[in-house]
Amino acid sequence: MAKIPIAVAEGDGIGPEIMKATLHVLQASGANIEIHPVEIGEKVYMKGFPTGMDPKTWDLIRHTKAFLKAPITTPQGGGFKSLNVTIRTTLGLYANVRPCASYYPFVATKHPEMDVVIVRENEEDLYAGIEYRQTPEVACSLKIISRQGSEKIVRYAFEYAKKHGRKKVTCFTKDNIMKFSDGLFHKVFDEISQQYPDILNEHWIVDIGAAKLADTPEIFDVIVMPNLYGDILSDVAAQIAGSVGLAGSANIGEKGAMFEAIHGSAPRRAGQNVANPSGLLLAAVQMLDHIGQPEAAARIYNAWSYTLEQGIHTYDIFKEGTSKQKVGTREFADAIVKNLGKMPETLKPAVFHGATSTSSRPHPHDTSRRELIGIDVFIYHRGVLEEFLPKISHINISQLRLKMVTNRGVRVWPQGQPETSCIEQWRCRFLTESGRAATQGDLIQILHAFDHVGLDIIKSENLYTFDGKPGYSSSEG
Ligand code: NAD
Repeated sequence: MAKIPIAVAEGDGIGPEIMKATLHVLQASGANIEIHPVEIGEKVYMKGFPTGMDPKTWDLIRHTKAFLKAPITTPQGGGFKSLNVTIRTTLGLYANVRPCASYYPFVATKHPEMDVVIVRENEEDLYAGIEYRQTPEVACSLKIISRQGSEKIVRYAFEYAKKHGRKKVTCFTKDNIMKFSDGLFHKVFDEISQQYPDILNEHWIVDIGAAKLADTPEIFDVIVMPNLYGDILSDVAAQIAGSVGLAGSANIGEKGAMFEAIHGSAPRRAGQNVANPSGLLLAAVQMLDHIGQPEAAARIYNAWSYTLEQGIHTYDIFKEGTSKQKVGTREFADAIVKNLGKMPETLKPAVFHGATSTSSRPHPHDTSRRELIGIDVFIYHRGVLEEFLPKISHINISQLRLKMVTNRGVRVWPQGQPETSCIEQWRCRFLTESGRAATQGDLIQILHAFDHVGLDIIKSENLYTFDGKPGYSSSEG
């Protein structure tokens, strides 16, 4: 059978060491792959590529079946984009799958029963990286959640659960505060969960959900969440399972897939032959399963589990009493290679299921009637409200009237409270009388009127109703 081409990047920091160890095990396992090295990361940033990747590398990655990537270091300072985010979004790798399981009693953990898979949305949320410094003292990030993005990830989570015999999918959001963005994610979760009657479903507000995950992770099975919560909580989950160095992750798209450890390049540990290669190795195991080589995946996973059972441990999971031998990166890989063909005696042996289906269903467009009924104008003003209010309170364009001024979302006019502490970014809301439609021309005239009275416009946001219901937060109170 022809070998499956795989792009491989050795990354930065501990990356080259853990990649070498991982490839050593892969090659010894009989995995039928052909390695195509690609260069990404710090060296490429320094050559003047602000994304950390030479554009020619895209083609190589595109023409391989999967991309196995060691962690990279994003240089500090402005002008450098996160390469990880760029790869995930550019290649449409929308599902980030992060299994976090306990390997008790061989790896110390307070949570011996833990076996959680975090399915993190990978393309949207604050990771769109759309950020602005609006005034000297105010910065703003845009959180984007779409129905299309939410449907893809939630469906993936249920398909993953079905394929892997998992019983429950839990959704974490903060929709009590972010009613539109997280609210949409939650709504889509409720809709799609109905299509999987054999799988339990539940929703938690992310703060208490996170607390429960840290305290009693065994009550969770598959957890699906928007990008930022998934990023943070998968590190927490991996760490409480035993070590952040133990978790691998898959980034899955309809046309490609990338596999990596969840941890970073740990520069402090680089070049010392101490790093745990398990995160990258388990990512490679996910990769083999994904490309249709479950036997090789299982062979490696079982040998790795057996090595843990022998107490052969890297420093991060080494514990007097439980561990038998503290080893370096190379020696750990050698031990796994020696154990290929062995089965774990206490830990669960591997069961692999092949790639989860990613074919997205035709996306029925939301047909709500959308009507423009106003505008929020954000202005930069250092000083008090009373200084600019008289200038705008008489702006009457067509049937648009000033309804409210807020500061950081708190209404300060009409009927503001004297205690509210204000910053230099103000939002002025204009709405049509009795919900009648406004025109784009009306909005342009409002902006023009602000300019006319000498106010510094930072940005504006159009206000719409959908089937008569406001599509914007009300900031009442
Ligand atoms: P990190 O995950 O690299 O390391 C934090 C600490 O965790 C390390 O100091 C070490 O004590 C421990 N650790 C991590 N991996 C380990 C392993 N395999 N074996 C043993 N111990 C391990 O996080 P950081 O220090 O915040 O980030 C360092 C760099 O990595 C930054 O430049 C960051 O941008 C980058 N990063 C890259 C990726 C990626 O490429 N996917 C992900 C996260 C961070």
